Parts: sequence; C-alpha cells; structure tokens
Amino acid sequence: MEFLPLFHNLRGARVLVVGGGEIALRKSRLLADAGAVLRVVAPEIGTELRELIGSSGGEQILRGYSEADLNGCVLIIAATDDEPLNAQVSADARQRGVPVNVVDAPALCSVIFPAIVDRSPLVIAVSSGGDAPVLARLIRAKMESWIPPTYGHLAGLAARFRHQVKKLLPNVQQRRAFWEEVFQGPIADRQLAGQGAEAERLLQAKIDGEAPPATGEVYLVGAGPGDPDLLTFKALRLMQQADVVLYDRLVAPAILELCRRDADRIYVGKQRAEHALPQDQINQQLVALAKQGKRVVRLKGGDPFIFGRGGEEIEELAANGIPFQVVPGITAASGCAAYAGIPLTHRDYAQSVRFVTGHLKDGTSDLPWKDLVSPAQTLVFYMGLIGLPIICSELIKHGRSADTPAALIQQGTTFNQRVFTGTLANLPQLVAEHEVHAPTLVIVGEVVTLRDKLKWFEGAQAGV
Ligand code: SAH
Repeated sequence: MEFLPLFHNLRGARVLVVGGGEIALRKSRLLADAGAVLRVVAPEIGTELRELIGSSGGEQILRGYSEADLNGCVLIIAATDDEPLNAQVSADARQRGVPVNVVDAPALCSVIFPAIVDRSPLVIAVSSGGDAPVLARLIRAKMESWIPPTYGHLAGLAARFRHQVKKLLPNVQQRRAFWEEVFQGPIADRQLAGQGAEAERLLQAKIDGEAPPATGEVYLVGAGPGDPDLLTFKALRLMQQADVVLYDRLVAPAILELCRRDADRIYVGKQRAEHALPQDQINQQLVALAKQGKRVVRLKGGDPFIFGRGGEEIEELAANGIPFQVVPGITAASGCAAYAGIPLTHRDYAQSVRFVTGHLKDGTSDLPWKDLVSPAQTLVFYMGLIGLPIICSELIKHGRSADTPAALIQQGTTFNQRVFTGTLANLPQLVAEHEVHAPTLVIVGEVVTLRDKLKWFEGAQAGV
C-alpha cells in the first residue's frame, strides 16, 4: 500500500494554500467544507476564491510565497503552475515535517486528495495513489450512482440511538448484528424513503423489544420504455433488494435481468383483451406477498402512473395498510420521442402535448375528438395500433388535416426500434405494409417533420 488512507480533522486548523487560480479554488472549497481556516498566498487571487476565504474566516496574502507562510499550518497545498515553486513548497514542508500536497505531482506529495463520495457524516474516499486519478474518479461516479443521496441520514439515525443500543447490548458482536439488521431492513428503507420519524419509531420499538412488524413493502417501479440505461438509480437499487418481482409483458428481458438474482419472478403481463392475470388478482397478490414480509417490486413498463393502472394497485395497498413507494419511470412518449428524434413540443410547431389512450372501448369513437384537433398540439397515442384506422379517420373528420405528419414507433428505445413516418391519411396503410406490431406508439403533429433533421438513434435498419 503506497498511501495509508486517514481522515483528517481540520476543523479550526490553519491550512496554507499556495496559488490563487482555479485549482487552488477547488482544493480550498474542500478544505473550507472540512472547517479549515485558509491562508492563501499568491500575487493574484481570483474573485471566487477571495469570497471563499472571506466567508470561511481565512486570510489572503497578495504576494509571492515565502517559507515563513508555513508557520502555524497543519497542512500545505501547492497549487500553482510554477513547477520549481511547487517543488520548493514541498521541500520546505517536508523539512518541517508538515504534510504537503502538490497538485498533479504525486512524487512531491506526502499526502494526496482522494476522489470523494460525500454522504456526510458518511464519507467514502477512493485513491489510486496518484497513478490514475481518472480511474479513481470513475469508481467514485459508480458509487455516486449506487449510494442514495440520503444514505448519510442512516449514520445520523445510528448516532441518535448509539448510546441506547450500547447500554442494551454491551456485547460488541450482538451490537454488530443489531445494526446490520437495522441498516439492511425496513428501518433503513423508511429512512431512505424520507420517512425519518417512522424510521425512529421502528428503531425505538426494536430497542424496546417489540416484535418487528411482519409486513413487507411494495415498490411500484417504472422500468422505462425498454433501454435498460433509462432506469433510474432508485429503480435499480430497489430491484436489487427485491424478494419478489411481478412484471408485465412490456418489461424488457434485459431489465428483468437486473433484478436480484435470487428474487422470485412472477409474470403478470397483460395482452390486449387477453388478461394473463386480472387486475384485482394482481392487487391481491401484492397485498398477500407483502403480508408475508416480502419486499415486492411491481415492475411496470414506462411510468407506473401513465396508463399503467398504478393508481389502482396502490389504492389496494393503502387500504390494507401496506407500506409502498412509487418510483417514476420514463414513459413511452418521452423515450420513443427522444430516440426517434421527434421533440414532443417545439416553439414553432406545438405548444402542448397530449397523451391519449387509443384503446377504444367497444371499438367505438369514444375520445374527445373535438379537443384533439387543435393544430398546435402534439398527440401521442398509447395502445393505438388496433384502433388506428378509427383514430385517423375521426381526427380527419373532426378537422385535423389529412396531411398532418404522423409517426409509428415500434419497440422504441430498444435495438429493435422501428420508426415509420407518414400522414394521418396513410398511417393505417403503413401498419399493414410493414407489419407493425405492439408495442407501438403513435405520434401525430407537425413535430414529426423534425425527425429528418434530428434523428440520431439507428435501432433496426428495416424500413427506417
Ligand atoms: N405505463 C406505460 C404505458 C403502458 S400502456 C408507459 O408509461 O410507457 C402500453 C402502451 O405503451 C403500448 O401499447 C404502446 O403504445 C406504449 N409503449 C410502451 N412501451 C413502448 C415502446 N418501447 N415502444 C413503443 N410503444 C411503447
């Protein structure tokens, strides 16, 4: 090990920064965050750095560096672009036995700055010993996405109960087991979901020896339109914790793959008119699984609250007192539009966008057609393939021009994406010609013409 990682308590301690530019500013910010008192020495100091020095009660010295600047400092940072000067500062600091960091020159450093994930009071530091700082930063970025922003609140929760738990469990092994349960179970879930009071209540109950509630939890998770890269961090995290996953036909296999390996997977998909599992049975199953204490992920294509019947599912959960969370997803309209190069609104073409179900009851025209024909409005039809001939003819009948541009996007955002553009007049014909099948989204409006200029995603080549 080239460097031993230590965490430095700088609160109230004086730190010398030699240099007044961008890099000095970046380092000074970190130092100020840690409560250091800055002494910045440079012939010129940038405005932002001056403000930082002012607000953190430090001092600025507008001249060249001199050895005496080290007096009283517990840490030295050389952040100038003058190499001999940096080397001089390093030598002086080492002479006095004070830790020194020279930016971008590991050989001159006795201490180095790691890449940091800050979830104070929890702080994670990653270092490559100065050999590959970019690598350390990439690892940091991975952790940033993995560790929820509120993770530090868990440490806060533990701090508030530490003494009580220590009194209750004098044995260190028992204590470790206790905290492991807390950090990996429903108490942590509550805290991370922003329900701090409930987390405290459950933790107190656990300390008081009350049996933990047997109820699990249901996460209603939007899986996005297909490309696994469009999942949210939160969706992925909950998918990785699940005991059971209930999923739809619309959820891509590549996304299902990302769920915890040993989670039970239950297919509850629905096909148009042919329901694999009626909605009320899905609702009941969610309740039953949660009552067994399971963490249940209900994975839905796109966004659970957009034509996803998510509302009905959580109504049932709420009625049964089952805790739940809803994680929004990228809805098919956003995903398909972006990957097809069709902005849903545009200052020249569309001032509003409307998401409409194309699933017509009894095959009749039961949509508010008059509201749908305004020219400056983009229409997005979900589930519109079967009813497409009716949709197109009704729009034309109610006054939208037969020349209005329109697009079909099949399996949008996936590598099988196919896009066909035409007009209200010939769209149904395109479906037959190219054997377009579900899931397909229909976009109607002038914005469709922008695709020629803005398309960037290839998907399948066929017919594009
Ligand atoms: N909750 C989902 C929509 C469910 S309704 C969401 O927010 O996206 C199902 C309809 O969504 C399909 O009939 C189709 O019109 C549309 N859809 C979903 N994913 C799609 C995709 N990847 N490509 C094209 N259309 C899609």
